[in-house]
Amino acid sequence: MNALVAPLTTVKTTCPYCGVGCGVLATPRVDGGLDIAGDPDHPANFGRLCVKGAALGETVSLEGRLLEPLIHGVPTTWNRALSHVASGFVDTLRTHGPQSIAFYLSGQLLTEDYYVANKLMKGFLGSANVDTNSRLCMASSVAGHRRAFGSDTVPNTYADLDSADMIVLTGSNAAWCHPVLYQRMQAARERRGTFIVNIDPRRTATSEGCDLQLSLQPGTDTVLFAWLFAEVARRGVIDPGYLARHTTGFAEVLANAQSIAPTPARVAELTGLSEADIEIFVNRWVATPRVVTCYSQGVNQSAQGTDKVAMILNCHLATARIGKQGSGPFSLTGQPNAMGGREVGGLANMLAAHMGFSGSDIDRVRRFWGAPYMADREGLKAVDMFDAIGRGEIKALWVMCTNPAVSLPKADHVRAALKKLDLLVVSEALASTDTTPGAHVLLPAATWAEKDGTVTNSERRISRQRAVLELPGMAKPDWWIVSEVAKRMGFEEAFSYPDAASIYREHAALSAFENHGSRDFDIGATATISNTAFDAMQPFQWPHAKGDTPQERFFADGHFFTPDGKARLHTVAPPALRVTTSEAWPLLLNTGRVRDQWHTMTRTGRAPKLGRHIPRPFIEMHPEDAARFGCVEGGYAVVTSAHGEATLLVAITPGQQRGMVFAPIHWNDASSGRARIGALVQDSVDPYSGQPEMKATPVRVVPITMASEGFLISRKRLDLPSWLSHARVAVEGGEGVLFASPRAPAEVAALLANFLPDQGDRAVLNDATVGVHRSIIYGEGGQLAAVLFVGDHHDEEAFGWMVEHFAAATLDRDTRRRLLAGRAASGVNLGPVVCSCFGIKRATILEAIRGGTDTVDAVGAQLKAGTNCGSCRPEIKGLIGKALA
Ligand code: SF4
Repeated sequence: MNALVAPLTTVKTTCPYCGVGCGVLATPRVDGGLDIAGDPDHPANFGRLCVKGAALGETVSLEGRLLEPLIHGVPTTWNRALSHVASGFVDTLRTHGPQSIAFYLSGQLLTEDYYVANKLMKGFLGSANVDTNSRLCMASSVAGHRRAFGSDTVPNTYADLDSADMIVLTGSNAAWCHPVLYQRMQAARERRGTFIVNIDPRRTATSEGCDLQLSLQPGTDTVLFAWLFAEVARRGVIDPGYLARHTTGFAEVLANAQSIAPTPARVAELTGLSEADIEIFVNRWVATPRVVTCYSQGVNQSAQGTDKVAMILNCHLATARIGKQGSGPFSLTGQPNAMGGREVGGLANMLAAHMGFSGSDIDRVRRFWGAPYMADREGLKAVDMFDAIGRGEIKALWVMCTNPAVSLPKADHVRAALKKLDLLVVSEALASTDTTPGAHVLLPAATWAEKDGTVTNSERRISRQRAVLELPGMAKPDWWIVSEVAKRMGFEEAFSYPDAASIYREHAALSAFENHGSRDFDIGATATISNTAFDAMQPFQWPHAKGDTPQERFFADGHFFTPDGKARLHTVAPPALRVTTSEAWPLLLNTGRVRDQWHTMTRTGRAPKLGRHIPRPFIEMHPEDAARFGCVEGGYAVVTSAHGEATLLVAITPGQQRGMVFAPIHWNDASSGRARIGALVQDSVDPYSGQPEMKATPVRVVPITMASEGFLISRKRLDLPSWLSHARVAVEGGEGVLFASPRAPAEVAALLANFLPDQGDRAVLNDATVGVHRSIIYGEGGQLAAVLFVGDHHDEEAFGWMVEHFAAATLDRDTRRRLLAGRAASGVNLGPVVCSCFGIKRATILEAIRGGTDTVDAVGAQLKAGTNCGSCRPEIKGLIGKALA
């Protein structure tokens, strides 16, 4: 159990998941847990939290934590571990030069952690081989911004979503990935009739709250926005004065747009949209000065991501609809501190404080840092970095706060590459992830509730993340670990930071250093902030230059950060997928997130509340594709690409496009068996941003008959055999495993029985004729110790019922008598949970709808579903729509 920083004192901090950056009130409980509430004073969320944020209190146990440094798996002191890392990097540098070392960071690091890691590598080790998992998330937005604006600037603010008359969501399942922001959009829609367009090949939960769904063909966003650009020009909506004074490139872009999108018929043919829908979209956009275009991974994670961003920005620049109230392009970042990482130069092609690798920027940063070995060129971006590791060119790698063996494309190649390193250092909060095996040094890092520093959300708002719990065991903040290694390399003076506040001050001072308004990122007003004021710091938006108040928006005045102050409109390449389908690979695999999980589940996978929504990894298919390839709803399929394979549950939906399938990114080898999607994903990258195309990998899908399905619930985590397709799910008091196998139930039951405890009373049912095998083992006091159910289908009702009883301290006689039956006497199968906050299941909601409850609010009033965080409201709306239809 964690110790408390200040028992029962509520701490204002920030959610560690998505880029909305919600303020959180965390109150430690005496049992070591946390009570969580939304911070009503935080401008990002005004007290709201989605279900992931609301469940943060379930994720802070010390189970599975890494609590001491390890060298080659052997516990050691911090001093030895740090010296080992320092000497390892120095030896590699001396022998192989600065390009032989690399750091791979994370958008979950705090800005202060990021700052020192970047400073060490780029200023003191002479290499820019520092990249981050944010490369997989929003690098195309960064590249698009820098090409157009001369700076990586998000011009607008969340408040613009309240005052926009039209919101275009493109490549963004905001209902699941930015839920609090999506609810804010929905509130505006209800209050003032904001017209919401959702551009996405797939119908998602986001579609439920939009006025126009444009399910275009993958990779054709630039065609749609090129047509919009051409029409905006043709219909005279451009702002000629703004264009002439503040931009260049209009004529070239117009010709380019007209060649890509010459006629409505051609646009319809390329995008797969109807001409009528395209006309509605364009008419609305043209007639609506207050329009915000929000874009996320569907735009960024593309081999043409930067061009997609460019055409969106072109449309806003040509109409001067940028940086104004209710009007502008808006990149929604996926991670809590992707923006902070950009601010400190966490990307291999950026220097600190939004500077690049021009001679003057390199010199400025060198002088500010007093850097002895300043990197003189850009480093390797993530995919190239791991390729260089695979070729043996990078010999020493330090991974901090991320899980590349799951999340990078071609994840099996990444795994193989990691084995080639002479030195792999991993700073981690957990003892075991997919990336930790093979690490030569494992360093115990602090995690969310223990960390102190700052993060920046999608609207440039810097918020404090504050420690609520004491550091457990020997865990340390990442900034401390990096600084101590730097000191042992001989850079004592430059890395003697007593606390996060001192790093923040240096970071703020660098942002203002020789700036004078020439660079967008300037928080110089806070460069001399005292530790007390840092502790009390309120969320604020940058820029916040010395003598100025924080600035809400950029670019309405037409001043950009290019040499001549003008924005650049950019021509784009005709859309083309880098790879496409073939006879061998007839489908395109799209990837993304589900509502209640986040990234590689290392945190959300610990919360029982979050495991109830979608507990098993799945592949979504269009009904015609399912029929074509012989797949059935609830069956299983082996999904194979040129790089790897996974076995997934089949979910059939007409919301999926023909020819495309979708699978979530979350499951990995630590949380499942045979379901790591990163292993399948191709690694072709955008030529400007280096961001990989993770939305269109050619695959084939072959059904597999699972003779057995079942579940195992135990108090302790079990190391299950690799032949078993399975998904782990957190349950109260233990862990559940949902599994499937082509082997017969009797065989599976016999094999898995070996994993059950030897001790304890047991109740056993074996009926080979109907293929039912059940074992229940009781621990001391009659509490359930383990449960194994094997049959010929997944018994969701039995699993849900057992999970409820597994949490109970004791079981009464009646319940014990019924346990082997797997259901209550009056049991009905209620299906999966829709509302995680109140545990309301799908069948309960459907029953209410059948009884005449036909609005989301009415369902909420009757069942409470959707009345807390609101994350499930789009699904409830979808259920109502389907039922009424
Ligand atoms: Fe966290 Fe949800 Fe807010 Fe994102 S929307 S920051 S996941 S509470």
